Amino acid sequence: MSEKIIYFDNNATTGVAPEVLEAMLPYLGPEYGNPSSMYRFAGASQRAVQKAREQTAALLGAGTEEIIFTSCGTESDSTAILSALRARPDKKHFVTTRIEHPAVMALGQQLEQDGYTVTWLGVDDKGRVNLDEFTRSLARDTALVSMMYANNETGNIYPVAEVGAICRERGVPFHVDAVQAVGKLPVNLEELPIDYLSMSGHKIHAPKGIGLLYVRRGTPFRPFLRGGHQERGRRAGTEAVPNIVALGAACELAGKHIDEENGRVKALRDDLQKRLLESIPDSIINGDPENRLPGTLNISFKNVEGEAILLLLDQYGICASSGSACTSGSLEPSHVLRAMGVPFTYSHGSVRLSLCRYNTQEEVDFVADALPKIIARLREISPYKD
Ligand code: PLP
Repeated sequence: MSEKIIYFDNNATTGVAPEVLEAMLPYLGPEYGNPSSMYRFAGASQRAVQKAREQTAALLGAGTEEIIFTSCGTESDSTAILSALRARPDKKHFVTTRIEHPAVMALGQQLEQDGYTVTWLGVDDKGRVNLDEFTRSLARDTALVSMMYANNETGNIYPVAEVGAICRERGVPFHVDAVQAVGKLPVNLEELPIDYLSMSGHKIHAPKGIGLLYVRRGTPFRPFLRGGHQERGRRAGTEAVPNIVALGAACELAGKHIDEENGRVKALRDDLQKRLLESIPDSIINGDPENRLPGTLNISFKNVEGEAILLLLDQYGICASSGSACTSGSLEPSHVLRAMGVPFTYSHGSVRLSLCRYNTQEEVDFVADALPKIIARLREISPYKD
């Protein structure tokens, strides 16, 4: 059993960056004032929340009044979708894809039970959506389109600029789940035709428990949480000041280094991918190799169980996922790989390795050495043979 930990599961969550921890600590300690209070002591909290609003808005190319702090990406997704639908109660059609995160997928399924018609756009074998099919799906009754920016399992990047332009032409609001994209890809909402956008702190080296919803100026909005006047009446509940400060710091940090770090992370991922494909027979990449997040590698090995691979990786101290973190533990192949039509013999043996800016070449070398041994060992005992 290895004592060393190699963390290649950054699409599930990330470690808090040292700079981010340092920025938030005073607000876990002496600066505990409630930003809504009138006295001077609360001023530090008020200013810190305002600064974080500016930092997050700057990363997204948004105005500060377009930012709503939430508790997580899931809350942002739910708020955006339910808010958009409540704002157009006469329309009962919702368009989304088969490869969304459960935060959107489960809500779509609930909407179907509530009487909405939901169009679930399919994908091809590389996980790509078809823009013509998307355009044809829009109807007079369409209340909202929701499509993810980047997929958490495969890393695939979706054509949100094109989809947004079509939505705008047809007068349909557009929500984007950008939880996996922000901080990893440049996202400029001044240019992108997006009305609602969700992000989450724990995917970009802020702590768990903080999310953000962008709502474009002038877009109809109905609050999900009602009560206090926080977030300009758009999300009631006392602000999680330390987490908000952390999100601001994480956004600033991501913005500073996005280009150079992504180049380095992509080089590490590409090296790992090449070495695994070369050294492990019957292995395939899941997703679109031409259009993926820089740090994501989803790879399948024929005739082995993903869960067994994870257990053996864990013995080497290597953290990874099979399918997505939310679906691991269930033996069903992930809904994303099923939507792509990945053959059963491969979809069962899929592993997601997701890297971040703190990963190193030594770690890649270690994994590139360990994984072929693990797969060979599992294939020896596998009941599945051709
Ligand atoms: N959307 C995507 C694409 C995700 O990857 C995740 C988390 O894995 C979420 C939404 C949910 O975010 P959170 O964990 O902050 O609720």
